[in-house]
Amino acid sequence: MTPQRPIEIVGGGLAGLSLGLALRRAAVPVTIFEAGDYPRHRVCGEFITGLAPATIARLGLAPFLADALHHREVAWFIGSGADAPPARIQTLPSPALGLSRHALDHRLAAAFLAAGGDLRTRTRVADADADVGPGRIWTTGRRRGQSPWLGLKIHARGLPLSRDLELHLGDFAYVGLARVEDGSVNVCGLFRRRELCAKGPHLLLGYLQASGLTVLAARLAASALEATSFCAVAAVGFDRHVAAPADNRVCLGDTCSRIPPFTGNGMAMAFQSAEIALAPLVAYSSGATDWSATCQAIHHAKRRRFRLRLATAAAVHPFLFHPPRQRLFAALNRAHLLPLRPLYAALH
Ligand SMILES: Cc1cc2nc3c(=O)[nH]c(=O)nc-3n(C[C@H](O)[C@H](O)[C@H](O)COP(=O)(O)OP(=O)(O)OC[C@H]3O[C@@H](n4cnc5c(N)ncnc54)[C@H](O)[C@@H]3O)c2cc1C
Repeated sequence: MTPQRPIEIVGGGLAGLSLGLALRRAAVPVTIFEAGDYPRHRVCGEFITGLAPATIARLGLAPFLADALHHREVAWFIGSGADAPPARIQTLPSPALGLSRHALDHRLAAAFLAAGGDLRTRTRVADADADVGPGRIWTTGRRRGQSPWLGLKIHARGLPLSRDLELHLGDFAYVGLARVEDGSVNVCGLFRRRELCAKGPHLLLGYLQASGLTVLAARLAASALEATSFCAVAAVGFDRHVAAPADNRVCLGDTCSRIPPFTGNGMAMAFQSAEIALAPLVAYSSGATDWSATCQAIHHAKRRRFRLRLATAAAVHPFLFHPPRQRLFAALNRAHLLPLRPLYAALH
């Protein structure tokens, strides 16, 4: 019988769980260490763009996505504009999937356990003491650092949407609204940090008002907000490049590179990075390759796949935050000079 070297995964988010599950299906012994537990809400816009059928098939994700909503139309709103109509309606080249992280992460964790995986929840691996030796994968999500950006999210009921997805650009803020599988609307925003004295849902309402998104704040205040779904994440940062591997570490998902949320592509990238790592890790586990070659193969494949979209997203991102650039964005859009289809292709 082929010897199976074990794989350890630190971080049970989308990259870690989908990789762990796919490795188990290839009979690789896998342990996942996860700091939190399931189910849990996460700061995320909860719409997935650019996830190709081939990735879904290779990772066996179809059963977990079966009840995801299919979003096709995006309405862009710039500023509060009282009851102004959307600045643009965009039809996506392929539907985005609307699914809550509460459901998705929980389903993947249950499937990993059912496939014989060893899942250690409430177990934080300290980076400082971390073993960087062979067989350990890092999927711990975004890296901590200095950043003025704050992410806030909540689910709301009784909140009608003008299109499948709404994207609102405010003063140093943008907010996405998308319905998820249980019929509620996920409201998730990225805001430049301000000194506001509020907590929970009131903090989100305060940020919407302070960012000039007063009409959206009033719509939210009139809906039924699910306080238990509220969550926040500070110091959100983004990358222009795929980080080079250090100490023969394999980093996947956000640990390797974080794309701005307006793309709705971070979750797809987490799955794609798991897809990239799968075959090299199976080869390593069977003894066919050594760890150093495995790390290099994964890194080069990630660079090829993600380089263009990270650079494009980093170039577009400032236009969504700064009011003067937003006005330029709107003017280009009115003049039909925004190449949305090529941009979408570069971003996915
Ligand atoms: C405001 C905002 C909105 C977003 N909206 C969207 C969107 O609409 N669509 C989209 O596709 N993407 C979106 N994203 C990005 C998306 O959420 C991420 O790209 C995705 O979650 C990355 O998955 P991951 O598995 O790499 O990391 P995560 O999902 O963050 O998982 C990392 C896991 O590691 C665990 N962990 C961390 N440290 C340790 C440790 N030391 N030991 C053990 N466990 C640890 C954490 O508890 C967590 O469960 C958004 C991000 C933000 C900030």
